[in-house]
Amino acid sequence: MNDRLTVAEVLSRFDREVGLEETVRATGGSSATAAAVDAASGPVVRGAPARASVAPASSAEPSPQRIHAPAPAPARPVPEGRPIPAASLRAPGSPGERAARLAEIEARHAETCPHCTTATGHTRLVFGEGAPDADILFVGESPGEAEDRAGRPFVGPAGEKLEEMIRAMGLRREDVYIANVLKSRPPEDRSPMPDEVAGCGPFLVEQILAVQPRVIVTLGGPATKFVCATETGITRIRGTWQRWLPPAGAECPEIAVMPTYHPAYVLHTYTMQVRGEVWSDLRGVLAKLGRTPPVRAEGQGG
Ligand code: SF4
Repeated sequence: MNDRLTVAEVLSRFDREVGLEETVRATGGSSATAAAVDAASGPVVRGAPARASVAPASSAEPSPQRIHAPAPAPARPVPEGRPIPAASLRAPGSPGERAARLAEIEARHAETCPHCTTATGHTRLVFGEGAPDADILFVGESPGEAEDRAGRPFVGPAGEKLEEMIRAMGLRREDVYIANVLKSRPPEDRSPMPDEVAGCGPFLVEQILAVQPRVIVTLGGPATKFVCATETGITRIRGTWQRWLPPAGAECPEIAVMPTYHPAYVLHTYTMQVRGEVWSDLRGVLAKLGRTPPVRAEGQGG
């Protein structure tokens, strides 16, 4: 069965989830904390009914080779009314050119925002930040209170946990790129609405096209569902390699995606199992990149 969904289907899925889920916020607000109970499959993070993974798990594929596929990737649909500009479809150049492209995207987003909701709860936009040519791009759901105040992604307690995860990988925060699906804090930190994802999501697509990381790490269910265009719940899909498909006409190969738990969920559910699963996911990312985890990080959880 082909379980890759169209964006419209994903947005519809978001819609249904908003009505079904009991969202639990973790301490200190960041991109949405996501603890919910899926009656069909047990505890999940912003879960969805179980479906097969988009792509087969490839945990046994710690290839140091770049995973970009040489063949043209299938086209990914984008929400109607917000096409990706032709300039953003072109292959990125030097780090400086990528940074300039990201700055242009950020400015264009700011010029036209808010444009997908009339009930924003934000005071600042949180576009994203990091190395414009990063190998790893972390994607969360939306800014929380701390991010809204700072105008930066992942700066509250969840941000500190994410930085801890990054350090455990032997990297620094400035070595990676960090963004959210939504660039503004939703009112009362609720889950993203379908029209918000439709309006803001394409800007994340442009960011991915500009950075063209080797691996995308999605943090939590909503980010995973948007990036992977799937409805599989995070507890089922985490730790399995997925793929991000670029939009039609993009000079960009498909990109490997590792879904894992949101750092806020790790804080909220601080168990050895959850931490171990996150660390296992991050080790998979390092293996994909041909990197060895630092010795001091051996045995650490998320
Ligand atoms: S969701 Fe994105 S596009 Fe919509 S108002 Fe917020 S920042 Fe702007």
